[in-house]
Amino acid sequence: MKITFHGAAQKVTGSKHLILTEDKKILLDCGMHQGFWKEAYELNKEFPFNPKEIDAVILSHAHIDHSGLLPKLVKEGFSGKIYTSTGTAELLEPLLLDSASVQKEDFEYYSKLAIFDETIEVLEPLYEESHVRKMLKLIITKKREDAFEIFEDIKVTFFNAGHILGSCQILLESENKKLGFTGDLGSRNRKILNDPVPIPNADFFITEATYGNRLHERKHLTREDLAKVINDTYSRRGRVIIPSFALERTQEILYDLHRLYNQKKVPRIPVFVDSPLATDFTKIFSNHLHEFDKETHDFFVDKGQNPFTFRNVTHTKSVYESKKLNKYQKPCIVIAGSGMCEAGRVKHHLRHGLENKRNTVLIVGYQAEYTLGRELVDGKKQVKIFGDIVNIKASIESISGYSAHGDRDDLIANIESTNEVKSVAIVHADPPQATGLKENLEQKHKDLNILIPKPGDTIEI
Ligand SMILES: [Zn+2]
Repeated sequence: MKITFHGAAQKVTGSKHLILTEDKKILLDCGMHQGFWKEAYELNKEFPFNPKEIDAVILSHAHIDHSGLLPKLVKEGFSGKIYTSTGTAELLEPLLLDSASVQKEDFEYYSKLAIFDETIEVLEPLYEESHVRKMLKLIITKKREDAFEIFEDIKVTFFNAGHILGSCQILLESENKKLGFTGDLGSRNRKILNDPVPIPNADFFITEATYGNRLHERKHLTREDLAKVINDTYSRRGRVIIPSFALERTQEILYDLHRLYNQKKVPRIPVFVDSPLATDFTKIFSNHLHEFDKETHDFFVDKGQNPFTFRNVTHTKSVYESKKLNKYQKPCIVIAGSGMCEAGRVKHHLRHGLENKRNTVLIVGYQAEYTLGRELVDGKKQVKIFGDIVNIKASIESISGYSAHGDRDDLIANIESTNEVKSVAIVHADPPQATGLKENLEQKHKDLNILIPKPGDTIEI
């Protein structure tokens, strides 16, 4: 069996690993590269393999850096099956339809601008809605911990990765070899989701290492931190604006708010979820309550409550409803995307809310360099939004305890819980994180062969 690392090699996006058996080509994930738009587009526009020759795809989870090029794979001739979990399959539909629609809108917007300014570069959409719909028809869903054969002598088993709803670690068995792949791994004792389930045995293990050299802090304090921010802002009669990723993070915030309201730790002020995509995902989460952990069952599900829905939550749908929120004068909480404040409705809320010293902007996710979210975290006094200079008078707060990725100890414990591992390939990590995990693993397990593959590297196992 051969593995070629075509994406997420020494970086954190574009997850794509090609497995070659004697007569089949299987793709583990088909993620989109993200980052600087032009650079990412160059990496996304051509596959480093022929999509027509791929026999099947096995998908670990829905995040776009793992699933985002599936419609393009289909557009370019892939016609095999895509194996994944039910949760992932349900999330893919709104996620990738939204991606197709954003690409179309961008294309139309920049095409118009380019009529008057020929220096503006217009990028063709990578795929359209029709390709997403065609791709969705190829999905076969499978339960976790139930081995299934995808071809003769190629067997696959999914294990819970505890990262987002539906996320799986993957075990692929063929030619007497066992290959394990984390996809993305969540941390242990995380809220809502059950803990990751280790793959029982694997000779070769591909592990993510987003936080391969970091230990998460203060996990248990996140909800208390959230309560403090809400209470402080309420005492000033302001609003809390939370830029949030639509998938997983928004549902985590809703879950925490629901717990805080039930425990009367914060005043019952209105919560507006101003993101149609987050609303779609929240509905899907509500259909999967059985998948969530004991604590979620104890606090909500067993009492007949939905963790993500409560009396004072309103999901705004239309742009009109969204704009009306700017006129709302009383204390409230607004959750809106995008998570790094680069696009979406949150930019309007920031444009209107940042200049008011009663308000708080609460950052709950990673903010990449050169994003508006990063400028806020870095303490800039002024930012530019829609061409306007905005003076920042609102409080800017961050809570770092919300993370969908496990830390170094979670990653090492996951590998240690898998028996018979002889070699580990570290992917999905910036170089310092990958190197940190490698050094830590080497210290503890001297006989382990550990590599950090470069893009395009092939190894035989
Ligand atoms: Zn992920």
